[in-house]
Amino acid sequence: MRTAGQREELEQTAGYEPSRRTGVVETPASLTEARSVPDLFEYIILGAGCAGLSLCCHLLEQGVTDPILILDQKERFEDDRTWCFWDVEPTPFSHLAIKRWNSWSIHAQNRHVVQTSERYPYLCLTAQDFYCHALETIAAHPNVTLRLGEAAAGYKELPEETVVATERRAYKARFVFDGRGLPPGSPLFEEARRDSAWVPQRFVGLRIRTARPVFDPEVCKLMDFSVGQGRGLRFVYVLPFGAREALVENVYLSETNLPLAEHRMEIFAYLESVYGLRPDEYVIDGEERGYIPMTDYEFPRQHGERAYSIGMLGGGSRPSTGYTFVRIQRYCRVLAAALVHGEEPPNRTESRRFGVLDAIFLRFMLRHPERCPEVYARMFAGVPPESLVRFLTEKSTPADELRLIQALPKTPFLEISARMLLGDRHATR
Ligand SMILES: Cc1cc2nc3c(=O)[nH]c(=O)nc-3n(C[C@H](O)[C@H](O)[C@H](O)COP(=O)(O)OP(=O)(O)OC[C@H]3O[C@@H](n4cnc5c(N)ncnc54)[C@H](O)[C@@H]3O)c2cc1C
Repeated sequence: MRTAGQREELEQTAGYEPSRRTGVVETPASLTEARSVPDLFEYIILGAGCAGLSLCCHLLEQGVTDPILILDQKERFEDDRTWCFWDVEPTPFSHLAIKRWNSWSIHAQNRHVVQTSERYPYLCLTAQDFYCHALETIAAHPNVTLRLGEAAAGYKELPEETVVATERRAYKARFVFDGRGLPPGSPLFEEARRDSAWVPQRFVGLRIRTARPVFDPEVCKLMDFSVGQGRGLRFVYVLPFGAREALVENVYLSETNLPLAEHRMEIFAYLESVYGLRPDEYVIDGEERGYIPMTDYEFPRQHGERAYSIGMLGGGSRPSTGYTFVRIQRYCRVLAAALVHGEEPPNRTESRRFGVLDAIFLRFMLRHPERCPEVYARMFAGVPPESLVRFLTEKSTPADELRLIQALPKTPFLEISARMLLGDRHATR
């Protein structure tokens, strides 16, 4: 581990380019100043994360002027993640993208497949830019109050209102939205893990800058399976922001729960073997990590008359991929519109058809993890990029899905489908 002085000296002598990410997220002063607390809020949002802030922005976009309260247990916002998604539909945040790739690659089974689409670029936005933009938008509306450092213990719906209890006091609202995330070990996480086909997606990513150009900034590497598979199904994900800057993530799609240090070692080894980078040839600017459950568990969206779960807690992650950001935007958009127009919000924004396909794919991953690299390679080599992107973002037509089915090995998928049809819900063995 280098000291700050050694690092500064190295950066100056080796000619590193500055990073675009400063990591600083200022909460606008007007949001943290005491705003008056009414007796009854129209909306209380628990969690100022991706879903909580997105829902608030969507409500404001709908012209809501009623009082809104957002509560979060954290004291401050941090540049703690990087969101990527295909640009298949507008979101209030897509313009913040720091990078758009028109090409992406998959490496598996000695195959190197590159797909290119001008129509659907793969976007990347930083948590820093997302939080700053959402907070600025919210701060411009005096009807919103944000309370940081205040954990919500729970809420209870009464006939006329819903009461939210925090460690400090109780607040009342007509509607409550629970966007407190789905941390490992939480009751719903454990219940879902027990009762569903469940593939953990655990990852650690390092944001690095290198002294010399090594990355191809035109192509992002979605999955490189050419790494050791001995500890469980694993790939490396590389987002090259430039020739000398990238986020390199080590991802396990298995129960393998490596300590952080081991994840780092695997990333260092990858940088050395694939890019010839020794540890003294790069600096680490940041680290991010996550656990996204890939599961067909049906997360309840609505609780009682006026309480909803949003984000990962409300089943926001796509079961077969873990992509969540676009699904959060979709649900928050329709939820905000329905509330403003006094309509019943839909329980889901995606067709049930995708749920069935995802359930089959999850079972394939559980039964045949060793065949997954081959299947991903076949998918990316055999399906035209735009059809595949539409499938991955739940916008595919039956013709797109037919192309996908043609590219996949038939026997194992048919066998799993047949067992599910015959009532074997798990069909994982
Ligand atoms: C490192 C990382 C990278 C990711 N990359 C992608 C990606 O590239 N593409 C993609 O589609 N998805 C990605 N995801 C998945 C998903 O989009 C994110 O996890 C997203 O932030 C989920 O949004 P959320 O609102 O459900 O939860 P969060 O954004 O985690 O927000 C939950 C909030 O609730 C707060 N909270 C928790 N408990 C309480 C409490 N008791 N009281 C008050 N507040 C509370 C937390 O402090 C937090 O601010 C990534 C996830 C991680 C962790």
